[in-house]
Amino acid sequence: MPLDLLQFFSDLIEQEQEIVGDRHELIFKVSGNNQGFWGDRGLLQQIFSNLMSNAIKYSPDGGTVEFHLISKESQVIFSIQDWGIGIPEAEQENLFQSFSRGSNVDTIPGTGLGLAIAKACVELHGGNITLSSEVGRGTTVTVTLPKVLPIGQLSP
Ligand code: ATP
Ligand code: MG
Repeated sequence: MPLDLLQFFSDLIEQEQEIVGDRHELIFKVSGNNQGFWGDRGLLQQIFSNLMSNAIKYSPDGGTVEFHLISKESQVIFSIQDWGIGIPEAEQENLFQSFSRGSNVDTIPGTGLGLAIAKACVELHGGNITLSSEVGRGTTVTVTLPKVLPIGQLSP
């Protein structure tokens, strides 16, 4: 069965909103026809959770986090955008490596694994993950996944 992405992500966002309460406002924006996506729910949930926890953790209370879901003919693109502390440009690429943390984290706790795990999950789906960020302005992480998994990858 293909996954109903609209339902899937709106459930996850609703759950996350209950957890963060009024500390952050999570906004869901959707475009395109989100039908015909075959993927692994567990991996997708892991990607969502790691990226969403970063967006919340590295942006101030009272902030907004936007989740955009865009469906194209053969790809699904989603991005998580925050208006938080941002990441120095020279460090951005390195942060997808296990145990790497930015100089921006100060006393905010973490292990440096979230992005590495998200990247591994995205690659199992035959997709890619990119990050754009500016210090003091915020961060957007974008994931692009093929709607149908490549042969030899996980079965749906
Ligand atoms: P954890 O393993 O608990 O997720 P972590 O958040 O430190 O720990 P990653 O999620 O891998 O680890 O993120 C790596 C680093 O990238 C962070 O330590 C932080 O420096 C930076 N980072 C990731 N997402 C954001 C974001 N949305 N805004 C600012 N910095 C970020
Ligand atoms: Mg993290």
